[in-house]
Amino acid sequence: MKLHEYQAKGLFAEAGIPTPTFKLASTVDEVVAAAEEIGYPVAIKAQVQVGGRGKAGGIKLVDDEAEAREAAESILGMDLKGYAVDRVIVEGAVDFVDELYVGITMDREAGRPVIMASTEGGVDIEAVAERDPDAITRVHVDPAFGLHPYQARRAAYGAGMDADIAGDAAKVIQTLWTLYSNRDASEIEINPLMVTSDREVIAADAVMNIDEDALFRQAELAEMEDEATGDTLERQASGVGLDYVRLSGNVGIIGNGAGLVMTTLDLVDHYGGSPANFLDIGGGARAETVKNALELVFADENADAVVFNIFGGITRGDEVAQGINEAIAAFDELPKPVVVRIAGTKAEEGRELLNAERLIVADTLEDAVQKAVNAAQEVAA
Ligand code: GDP
Ligand code: MN
Repeated sequence: MKLHEYQAKGLFAEAGIPTPTFKLASTVDEVVAAAEEIGYPVAIKAQVQVGGRGKAGGIKLVDDEAEAREAAESILGMDLKGYAVDRVIVEGAVDFVDELYVGITMDREAGRPVIMASTEGGVDIEAVAERDPDAITRVHVDPAFGLHPYQARRAAYGAGMDADIAGDAAKVIQTLWTLYSNRDASEIEINPLMVTSDREVIAADAVMNIDEDALFRQAELAEMEDEATGDTLERQASGVGLDYVRLSGNVGIIGNGAGLVMTTLDLVDHYGGSPANFLDIGGGARAETVKNALELVFADENADAVVFNIFGGITRGDEVAQGINEAIAAFDELPKPVVVRIAGTKAEEGRELLNAERLIVADTLEDAVQKAVNAAQEVAA
């Protein structure tokens, strides 16, 4: 789960990391009121979960009320890389002389978290990593011992930060580590960590991703989930407990098991279609679950056809077929062609049970995927 900047920044500030004063606003008048309270100049920043908002026109610095109005009018309601902006934060502009980078992520190869620090903040860090890998200092952390203070200093000094700044940056890194481990974060980042003209560090931006499987013990963060999930369909899916990731293609995909769904994604691509989503309904196939899954895919206007890829294991094929039949009975009309492939235990019985008047029944996976890709192309034509 990716938090919004204002959520992450709130957590950073609460933990003691210096941040600009900021307020959330969703109307032009709220922006102006917030700016007045904070004092000009302020930065107005779109709250959508994409990077590079600045370049895309989602961040504006303003000096007075007229400029604040104009900026708020242009940012609120704008489409930023596919996301509608409905909220902004208004924050005190920073008088900065330098932009640093600090972050923590999981280094899967090393099998442990890694602290990253660089003096090349303010730009896309992936681009820095590609162009000049040595510009980023990395320090691995043994989770059994946590981050030792000397390691935080090593990261800051190793990155080449000025001596009067490195100590403060190391403190910020130490606090980030506390947040990372206490809050079950999977990624945490400040880019830029600005150096002010008074030689202080301040977090101008905030990124924090939380391990969703830890939300059961992170009550405060779980409460943020609704607002954090940007995509309405993904929010709807998580509300009914489905593993759903929205993609942008034309073929909706539903399967029982992550590997099975991934395979189907690849095959859709192989046969010239493009996956509209990842949707794993897990083991079992209660009609209710199947209906919820279908509702999601039907609601995605990019998806022109749906393919079910079901493997009967412990849940038998005939039970799944029953579940699918019951689920489609809940729809007066299927708004999109639905192709079903069942394999495994009692697959044949399942296929025979399926309502062939409303569904397209396929014998093999390849057949099912091709039928779905073709059906989607016909719908679009
Ligand atoms: P991002 O582009 O989505 O990562 O958003 P950031 O919050 O990182 O802002 C992008 C850039 O805006 C920063 O790297 C700064 O160079 C620039 N910027 C200039 N003045 C300010 C300021 O006062 N506050 C903030 N937050 N950014 C500023
Ligand atoms: Mn940034």
